[in-house]
Amino acid sequence: MLPSDLSYTVYYLPMPDHINIIEIFPSVQGESTLTGLPTTFIRLAACNLRCTWCDTTYSFGRGTAVDLEEIVKQVKDFGCQQVCVTGGEPLLQQNVYPLMTELCDAGYLVSLETGGSLSTTKVDPRVRVILDIKCPGSGMHEKNLWDNLTQLKSQDEVKFVLLHREDYDWALEVCHKHQLFNKGFALLFSPVHGKLNPQDLVKWILENKINVRLNLQIHKFIWTPETRGV
Ligand code: SF4
Repeated sequence: MLPSDLSYTVYYLPMPDHINIIEIFPSVQGESTLTGLPTTFIRLAACNLRCTWCDTTYSFGRGTAVDLEEIVKQVKDFGCQQVCVTGGEPLLQQNVYPLMTELCDAGYLVSLETGGSLSTTKVDPRVRVILDIKCPGSGMHEKNLWDNLTQLKSQDEVKFVLLHREDYDWALEVCHKHQLFNKGFALLFSPVHGKLNPQDLVKWILENKINVRLNLQIHKFIWTPETRGV
């Protein structure tokens, strides 16, 4: 069943036991507390959001329907212990749930990057959820599903992508309002690459003495920001 708040045109109907995929590739994890670890990325097709600064607009397309067994085989062939399920918005496709469970059963350390507008309640509890809270600069902050914050486990992470000082102030307010400090999970403050100077963000974090983690996307420094499949 498709999510009820789907606000875009669905131009494919997933086949049973298949997931529409944009790409599967090995790299090093570019962000979160897992930064630098060899990871297989499974990028699912389609997104219900349209963030102003989106760096993966190529994931908006239809992708290719790939059998779950084939996905797991490719993950095995790449041989990374970490697997990151990402998008697009991975939770738009219902077969992502059995895929994540199968990968956990097989002993992989699975993380999920989600845009935060769809419920995470059906995600296997062994999966590390990296939950975006969309700030006003994204143009998508009214899509945040706040109930997701009540579902977080201690190993999960909350990510704010910040376009400007207004986003930073807004994120700080959200952290205070929802008492996100001292909950045990990592709070990631990530400057939009090429838009917000990381030096400014570090200065603000230190000035406010807040226990958040600066989250830079290291793949954009290792390769060019436009490089795909890394
Ligand atoms: S949620 Fe992610 S993929 Fe979707 S528009 Fe925003 S940044 Fe792009």
